[in-house]
Amino acid sequence: MANTPYPQSYYAASANPVPPRPALQEEVQTDVCVIGAGYTGLSSALFLLESGFKVTVLEAAKVGFGASGRNGGQIVNSYSRDIDVIERTVGPKQAQLLGHMAFEGGRIIRERVAKYNIQCDLKDGGVFAALTPKQMGHLESQKRLWERFGHTQLELMDQKRIREVVDCDQYIGGMLDMSGGHIHPLNLALGEAAAVESLGGKIYEQSPAIRIERGANPVVHTPQGKVRAKFIIVAGNAYLGGLVPELAAKSMPCGTQVITTEPLSEDLARSLLPQDYCVEDCNYLLDYYRLTGDKRLIFGGGVVYGARDPANIEAIIRPKMLKAFPQLKDVKIDYAWTGNFLLTLSRLPQVGRLGDNIYYSQGCSGHGVTYTHLAGKVLAEALRGQAERFDAFAELPHYPFPGGQLLRVPFSALGAWYYSLRDRLGF
Ligand SMILES: Cc1cc2nc3c(=O)[nH]c(=O)nc-3n(C[C@H](O)[C@H](O)[C@H](O)COP(=O)(O)OP(=O)(O)OC[C@H]3O[C@@H](n4cnc5c(N)ncnc54)[C@H](O)[C@@H]3O)c2cc1C
Repeated sequence: MANTPYPQSYYAASANPVPPRPALQEEVQTDVCVIGAGYTGLSSALFLLESGFKVTVLEAAKVGFGASGRNGGQIVNSYSRDIDVIERTVGPKQAQLLGHMAFEGGRIIRERVAKYNIQCDLKDGGVFAALTPKQMGHLESQKRLWERFGHTQLELMDQKRIREVVDCDQYIGGMLDMSGGHIHPLNLALGEAAAVESLGGKIYEQSPAIRIERGANPVVHTPQGKVRAKFIIVAGNAYLGGLVPELAAKSMPCGTQVITTEPLSEDLARSLLPQDYCVEDCNYLLDYYRLTGDKRLIFGGGVVYGARDPANIEAIIRPKMLKAFPQLKDVKIDYAWTGNFLLTLSRLPQVGRLGDNIYYSQGCSGHGVTYTHLAGKVLAEALRGQAERFDAFAELPHYPFPGGQLLRVPFSALGAWYYSLRDRLGF
């Protein structure tokens, strides 16, 4: 059977040591079978185990193989579309519920890290950087909006102030969120997997779910085994493929690329980001970056609709990095990789049930480190019979991408081009 390794990322190279995990080669019985060991699957497993469920996790490759082990590591609050958009889409009552959950994911991560002593270089503080007056105006309303929902660790920054936290002269201002921050994402996933196992959960790696036998007593089949469960949680996100055809029509895998420099000198690292905050700019196709624990700069940006792997990642991302930080022109790039996230048309998460025992959450549209942790909690609540918060997500409407399977990629790329042009021209 194929043994799928991690991509050659900085994260894989600096991962904490983990025990080998077996592939499933027998038939097992469990309360909940979780498909996918990214943050959605692991967070669900952990909340369910803490509530007394028996849990089996099937992972097609390795824990954190997907976006959860490859991302920019930025703890960003709220959702890929903000609460005001949700309010306009679904009305004030549902928006109230979703708005009050929008800052919970970051708290869950911090609780997990503290409770299970996860070594993942957690740092507080995230900056949204504005390149245009329009983006600055948007940050001002975002601050007011978030404060309405009780989030008060926010500071608006003018041009002078933002230069104190990031040495980039492109920004006219920004907003600092002290409940944002950053982590080594793969080590967070590995720590959560260890926590799952410490509570008696079973994780099988190299064990793709290849078929789900639906019905009152569902069975998940892998190439060499099967899991009989009372409930199934589908958490394969952009890597799920066609396992659950109903989910594929309204979402689209997209790639985004990340590079990592060689370790910087202490002085250079401190000059770029003196407080070690992470930064994302406010463009539609945004750049995001931060320092690692060993003082490399991790820089990501851009989107490949349809998730084709680009031939030369460094050639795409390095110019973006040098535009922000020309002072890095002689710095070597040690790692470059790509990862897939799942986009929905509304950019809001796709959550729901199939029948009464298969649950899913996916499609947080590139903004999922916090949401996926919340999703695990909300899924576990639903399986315990408290579905009010789950249903608030499940009722968000979703639509197929224009152009169908054939044309959705060029149509989306065209849309993104239009929004990027607006960013560049500032309207
Ligand atoms: C390069 C990159 C940078 C990003 N940066 C950020 C960031 O800085 N901040 C932020 O908030 N978000 C970021 N994101 C998004 C964020 O990483 C994702 O939203 C989040 O990790 C999704 O978690 P997940 O568990 O739903 O999916 P994944 O982490 O993709 O996990 C899905 C898992 O399911 C497994 N799987 C799939 N199908 C099957 C099957 N049939 N059987 C068994 N297992 C299966 C896969 O192997 C995979 O391990 C980024 C994403 C990428 C790709």
